[in-house]
Amino acid sequence: MSTIFTKIVQGEIPSYKIAEDEKYYAFLDINPLAKGHTLVIPKEETDYFFDLDEDLLAGMMVFSKKIAKAIEKVVPCNRIGVAVLGLEVPHAHIHLIPINSEADISFSRPKLKLTEEEFLEIAGKIRAEL
Ligand code: AMP
Repeated sequence: MSTIFTKIVQGEIPSYKIAEDEKYYAFLDINPLAKGHTLVIPKEETDYFFDLDEDLLAGMMVFSKKIAKAIEKVVPCNRIGVAVLGLEVPHAHIHLIPINSEADISFSRPKLKLTEEEFLEIAGKIRAEL
């Protein structure tokens, strides 16, 4: 059975897409810790980040760098925090989160509730910076 993220890549489930290439896909986290909170995934399904093939893992970071630089231009922040948890969705992913302080990347914090219009606006602005 496919993961929810594979379904997103295949267009079976909608997402606020930021970017894709032949190996990776980036989209907004639906329960964001901050505006611009983005997930980067490999299109190939692997549960655990550190089980990824070395080249795929290294390339995922390079792909994430481009996305992080674009997020920075749209969301005022000190920097883009990077987190890998994978406790909820068994499909390797990197969280890119605009942060100003350590507390901003705490996953125990309440998530933001954004409207569809807000998600669309942020995604469009980030895409425009790529
Ligand atoms: P974790 O596996 O612990 O890194 O958490 C999974 C993350 O995926 C959470 O931050 C969720 O909000 C996010 N998420 C789950 N389903 C979706 C979805 N359909 N679209 C966007 N983000 C999602």
